[in-house]
Amino acid sequence: MFKKTLISLLLLGMATPAFSAEVNLYSARKENLIKPLLDRFTEESGISVNLITAKADTLLKRLQIEGKNSPADILITTDASRLHRAKKSGLTQRIDSVILTKSVPNSFRDSDEHWVGLSLRARPIMYVKSKVKPEELSSYEELANEKWKGRICIRSSNNIYNQSLVSSMIANNGAAATETWAKSLVGNFARSPKGGDRDQIKAAAAGQCDIAIANTYYLAGMINSKDESQKEAASKVAVFWPNQADRGAHVNISGAAVLAAAKNKENAIKLLEFLVSDEAQEWYAAKNGEYPVRSGIAASDTLRSLGEFKKDNLQLDKLGILNPEAVRLMDRAGWK
Ligand code: FE
Repeated sequence: MFKKTLISLLLLGMATPAFSAEVNLYSARKENLIKPLLDRFTEESGISVNLITAKADTLLKRLQIEGKNSPADILITTDASRLHRAKKSGLTQRIDSVILTKSVPNSFRDSDEHWVGLSLRARPIMYVKSKVKPEELSSYEELANEKWKGRICIRSSNNIYNQSLVSSMIANNGAAATETWAKSLVGNFARSPKGGDRDQIKAAAAGQCDIAIANTYYLAGMINSKDESQKEAASKVAVFWPNQADRGAHVNISGAAVLAAAKNKENAIKLLEFLVSDEAQEWYAAKNGEYPVRSGIAASDTLRSLGEFKKDNLQLDKLGILNPEAVRLMDRAGWK
């Protein structure tokens, strides 16, 4: 009897601790790609993290419906443009943290400090080694050249990675030049866009096209895959880093915003500061096949094997600001 009471008391104590430090996280990043890191944070800080994962658009809708009553403190997405969407909808607030502004380069943070990048994803050109010489390639712009007719695989225009790439080109070259470029690029497609990034690499390896545009973590995933056919496909392509003579290759971020309705703002900022620490940066980037957002932290061996490259330094809130224009432009260019 005594024993039973003691257990009930203990359970009660666990359910309602005197100081329940917590932070609530809505994440578009899959649980296994972030949970171990959150556990480390809890171990170090005593702040427990409640994690809800879903597709970014689902989370955005949910935040809008919940409004002020939302339990969420942080939103994590894998594209700057969606963080910008959250900001524009009034769902986020300014983050005041010297640690974050000092550690994360300007271009990878919102200009009003509403979100901060946690890792970088690069979207270079990939080419079939037996069919293309790297000397034939130079920039995204050059993919509009007639010599690539029927040779390019890229996914559809409803994909946010392509929308962000086009936004970066509007920011750099202007809308008119980008529309002309997009029309010619579409004219060079090997097939009507279908599938994800990985499917473009596979199609190239299978001989359907000579060039694919994809984020590097997909290629890294194939290189390290237990599936021999994926490994084999990956071995047929190489990465070409475009625009190295000018602005650099297009990059995007996975990042986080502190929500306007946050009840645990301080804990939220503590978690974000932890996520840009040396320890977290290395693990988070490597686990996701991405690059650390902070310079001075090494990328994984696989990513390093794809070569060093110059990144486009564009302030990434431009990707969100220019997104609607990019979508309309791609539509007019006939990019399915
Ligand atoms: Fe992806």
